Amino acid sequence: MRVSRLILATLRDVPADAEIISHQLLLRAGFIKRVTSGIYAYMPLMWRVLQKITSIVQQEMDAKGSLQTLLPQLHPAELWKKSGRWKGYTEGEGIMFNLKDRQNREFGLAPTHEEVITTIANEVLLSYKQLPVNIYQIQTKFRDEIRPRFGLMRSREFIMKDAYSFHSNEGDLKSTYNEMNDAYKRIFSRCGLETVAVEADSGAIGGAASQEFMVTANSGEDLILLSSDGVYSANQEKAISIASKAIPLKSKDRKEIKTPGDSSIKELCNSQNVEPSQIVKVLLFLAITQNGDKQPILISLRGDQELNEIKLINTLTQIIGQDIIDISQISVDKLKSENIETLPFGYIGPDLSDSVIKTAKSWKKKFLRLADHTAAELSNFICGANKKDTHRIAFDWESIGGLPKAVDIRKAKAGDHCVHDVNQILHDKRGIEVGHIFQLGCKYSDALGASFTNEEGAQKSFWMGCYGIGISRLAQAAVEQNNDEFGIIWPITIAPYEVIIVIANIKDPDQKSLGEELYKKLLIEGIDVLLDDRDERAGIKFKDADLIGIPWRVVVGRDAAAAQVELIERSSKSKNILEVDTALEKLLKEISEKKKFSTPLNL
Ligand code: ATP
Ligand code: MG
Repeated sequence: MRVSRLILATLRDVPADAEIISHQLLLRAGFIKRVTSGIYAYMPLMWRVLQKITSIVQQEMDAKGSLQTLLPQLHPAELWKKSGRWKGYTEGEGIMFNLKDRQNREFGLAPTHEEVITTIANEVLLSYKQLPVNIYQIQTKFRDEIRPRFGLMRSREFIMKDAYSFHSNEGDLKSTYNEMNDAYKRIFSRCGLETVAVEADSGAIGGAASQEFMVTANSGEDLILLSSDGVYSANQEKAISIASKAIPLKSKDRKEIKTPGDSSIKELCNSQNVEPSQIVKVLLFLAITQNGDKQPILISLRGDQELNEIKLINTLTQIIGQDIIDISQISVDKLKSENIETLPFGYIGPDLSDSVIKTAKSWKKKFLRLADHTAAELSNFICGANKKDTHRIAFDWESIGGLPKAVDIRKAKAGDHCVHDVNQILHDKRGIEVGHIFQLGCKYSDALGASFTNEEGAQKSFWMGCYGIGISRLAQAAVEQNNDEFGIIWPITIAPYEVIIVIANIKDPDQKSLGEELYKKLLIEGIDVLLDDRDERAGIKFKDADLIGIPWRVVVGRDAAAAQVELIERSSKSKNILEVDTALEKLLKEISEKKKFSTPLNL
């Protein structure tokens, strides 16, 4: 392609609304155009990157015997009502765009495809003899994200590869899950990405394994915790650890103390000269269940620990026995709208009486009380006295009416000791989730009544797995990991073009003809090559080539008359003046090496 015909419109200034480097560079280099919040057009250069990633993904999925398909994006509400996800996805978190057709029938724009594929599997997979089956597609997903941001990282319309597998037993599911793990490692490494695989939250399903693939980057939205010996790595949402030991409270003098204004842990510690780990703090939450029940929750945490909301939701799902569609902290406004008198926030103790919510209009009138293990283990602590400006010191659980249900709902954090080896300490990194593999078990097949006939002739629910890769997010993550002060440095396997030939002075006939000749030769060899034939200053063309991140640049300049060119590698900046044929040979060798596909086929 000739740069003169490429719609190349690079920007010198950093666009105001782009916070992270990859978003800035993709906008500045003209790869993407914002249409509205969280919705972008992929410009021709970007589309080439996406196509290259797609092709690597296809090769690796095909090699594992997965079948490519294309499923509809408009889903009838009935399917989602059947799986029990309609309410949560529309009213609750509200991530699914939904609409009505002219006959007033409800539809959702697909954020994911478990419902559709499981329904089809039920119709076409009748016997265990047809199993296992693994099906994938690559297409646009829609999610009405609460906070679309960082360009393609969290957008509302994005490209995903999603695969679904169907099995007659759990062992078979596990073996496909391991195959997918293997395929994912190859995909990311072939795309030139460094990723870390981490244990991930499997939601309320419990038990089932789930792993995310993270590109480590400071701008990542996820926090991951890793042990120094490399044995344990997990998303903080899921991570477990041994908390640091509480510092024992010396005072044994059980009493109420006046603590005016000390409504935070920090203020209380300062005024009373105590440690956060000697305090039991209380958080009040409201959970809304799938059936619409509104359950107030009273949570006791050790003062130096933080609540892990994902663990809380999973715990509540299990205790209540219903999916939780929303949780939120109880605020003064919420109390008011429920007709409940305000509460002494900052001074609430674990034994806050249920009578305080007896006037509630729509809530349950009894708290569900939970204590994190670290709080439950304290035997001499400070806590609120349930009246303003007052705390209690040297209390234990018995003296405040007993221990609530003890559960793991705290956030593991850097500095905690590891469960697999107490001598190992966790450290943290930020990560961008580019892929997620998941053993779903029978959750969807049970809900949707999807079954097959087993060897004994009995009807059994499918064991299922699902496997996602954010194709458009991956493309931007590659930029986040590969850039410098001059622009993007595409890994060659996903670069829009592999080589750019820059004719320094297009008016010079020697330069022009040598440039054109090399261009043709590279095209014939199947190299993705750009020819910068614009009538611009050489400096501008070099800047653009660096900004758009083409891995190899050939400058056809003053030495053209002597059939010599300059070969520059974008990543290392190494420069060599070479005979044009030698340059050609070197390029062919470097590029073909990198493009090789050598995955063993498993068909
Ligand atoms: P996240 O936790 O980042 O919201 P998720 O866990 O909801 O993602 P999955 O349902 O596992 O996402 O989707 C599979 C993959 O799709 C993710 O690993 C991610 O790479 C990508 N993805 C998810 N949401 C978005 C989005 N809003 N924009 C771009 N890519 C996304
Ligand atoms: Mg995920």
